[in-house]
Amino acid sequence: MTREPSLGATTRAAYLARLADETFDVLVIGGGIGAACAAWDAALRGLKVALVERLDFCSGTSAHSFKILHGGIRYLQHLDLQRLRESCHERGSFLRIAPHLTHPLPIAVPTFGYAMQSRWLLGVAFGVLETLTLDRNRGLEDADRGIPAPYLLSRRELLDKFPGFESANPTGAGVFYDGQIKNPPRAVLAVIRAATQAGAAVANYCEAARLLIHDQKVVGVEVNDLLGGARFEIRAAVTINATGPFAPSLFGRMDKAPQMKVPLSRDMAIVVRRQLDSKIALMVQTKYADPDAVLSRGNRHIILAPWRGKYTLIGVNSRVYTDNAYDLVVTEAELEDFVAEINGAYPALALKRDDIAVVNAGLLPFGENDPGSKDLSFGKRSVIIDHEATDGLKGLVTGMSIRWTMGRLLGQRVVDIAERKVRQSVSRSRTDRTPVWGGDIPSRAAVEQQIRTAVPNGLTPEQISRVSCSYGGDWRSVIASGADSTQRVADSDYLVAEVQHAVRREMAATLTDVMMRRLDMGTGERPTPATVEACASLVAAELGWDAARRSREIERVNASYPFASPGSQLPVSLS
Ligand SMILES: Cc1cc2nc3c(=O)[nH]c(=O)nc-3n(C[C@H](O)[C@H](O)[C@H](O)COP(=O)(O)OP(=O)(O)OC[C@H]3O[C@@H](n4cnc5c(N)ncnc54)[C@H](O)[C@@H]3O)c2cc1C
Repeated sequence: MTREPSLGATTRAAYLARLADETFDVLVIGGGIGAACAAWDAALRGLKVALVERLDFCSGTSAHSFKILHGGIRYLQHLDLQRLRESCHERGSFLRIAPHLTHPLPIAVPTFGYAMQSRWLLGVAFGVLETLTLDRNRGLEDADRGIPAPYLLSRRELLDKFPGFESANPTGAGVFYDGQIKNPPRAVLAVIRAATQAGAAVANYCEAARLLIHDQKVVGVEVNDLLGGARFEIRAAVTINATGPFAPSLFGRMDKAPQMKVPLSRDMAIVVRRQLDSKIALMVQTKYADPDAVLSRGNRHIILAPWRGKYTLIGVNSRVYTDNAYDLVVTEAELEDFVAEINGAYPALALKRDDIAVVNAGLLPFGENDPGSKDLSFGKRSVIIDHEATDGLKGLVTGMSIRWTMGRLLGQRVVDIAERKVRQSVSRSRTDRTPVWGGDIPSRAAVEQQIRTAVPNGLTPEQISRVSCSYGGDWRSVIASGADSTQRVADSDYLVAEVQHAVRREMAATLTDVMMRRLDMGTGERPTPATVEACASLVAAELGWDAARRSREIERVNASYPFASPGSQLPVSLS
């Protein structure tokens, strides 16, 4: 039987019909963390919401992040206490609302000598951090998920965890905690599903092609359905442009288009086939200086974080990006440079280009704020523009999230502006305390116990752990009790039921959607040909693909390694 991709019980076709027929209070363009949180926030406030994403949900920058939920310690050296407090609050929010998909991550910062990088000074900084973030675990019911106080490690303890680091001559280390997002695309999907549960109509592979403008007011957009080929209009009182680095391109060839000059940074993080310590990340210094630090510990830092058991995620490498946002590529020379930068900071690693399994890269805003500007904020903070105030264009708000961590707050703030336009009042956001889809659980351990009881001896501990993480409290919609639930995809630990669920309940429409985002199969290492073939057959059976389409989908997955460029995310019917 051929199916339509569906989200929950609603087919994509049914969502498209709603998008075309109804008039919405708020239309959100984009499907990254900023857009997802805006749609969810608006829907929870009782607004009638639509969301369209040009490619798959969370296939842009939000998928390729370094996966850290920043708690704000970095802003201590910039003496930016407001940002520190905001970041700490947002880290806590995601640990609370998405307990299945996030966890605390300890990060060791080596100490050196007796001056700016010394143990005593880091100890003082940790004391200040502790005082400023005393409320960091408020509302977290599962004590295991709380952010512990920072602490110091001796030189011996540090070197036991990170052998070979003695050549840098550390005196020890301090350990602080951030959060880690286990699977950003699933986290964004969990927010989008929560938005649909609150009434939002959503569709992936729906590109906003042109703003509809009447009397200097944006009244909606014309969209292209990149899967079905149809072109139709969506009408809304307020449109939120949450397309990240693509935000300026939405104005296309408009007469008197708003001038959005947002400088972009190309950030990169790599997955390498090495495991350092299995629990603690290491922060090391590179040769580049941090121009913004007020109390500088020295040069810029990169972090080597444990990732999915056998890998290490290393980032972030940034550079100014001035080319077309749609043409982002990472060159071999850039990879070689980054490897050299990492080896310069931790020579004993002796990392080689061939150790790189996956390259994550994306574009995000950076720059400086216009002094005194009211609704515009750049650079260290997310970009929020009310175009009525800046360009006299009513009904349009732009939001670009400076960090994944800040995506929820960005959503809240743009919806504050949108709601005021719709209702002339602003209600309270609830997204910092409402669980995302699957997040309403007592603890991960409790979910794992439920699965073990329901499917005795059927799943390995690794599978139980992954299922509890991916689906949280919704695991039953994937794993029914019985033998069928435990059947595996060839040459892999993943379950046939997970692949089918991705199409039937999570709107996966391409093989790449299934393997790179719904199942996280290909974000640590390239899956084997047998696994790709088996997955392709399963998805082909669900969606009724012929042999030619199935082959093209396989080629598209293979083209994602090591770097998935935006072009490789387009549905194969368009390529
Ligand atoms: C390598 C790297 C590491 C990072 N590490 C971290 C980290 O550790 N922690 C952290 O907090 N932040 C991190 N960030 C930053 C963070 O990822 C971004 O700030 C955040 O993901 C931006 O989200 P967004 O929703 O604004 O944009 P995006 O995720 O880019 O979403 C925009 C979406 O809009 C869609 N779109 C574009 N045009 C259209 C259209 N016409 N119609 C419909 N849809 C459209 C795109 O396809 C895209 O999916 C990192 C970024 C990178 C690149």
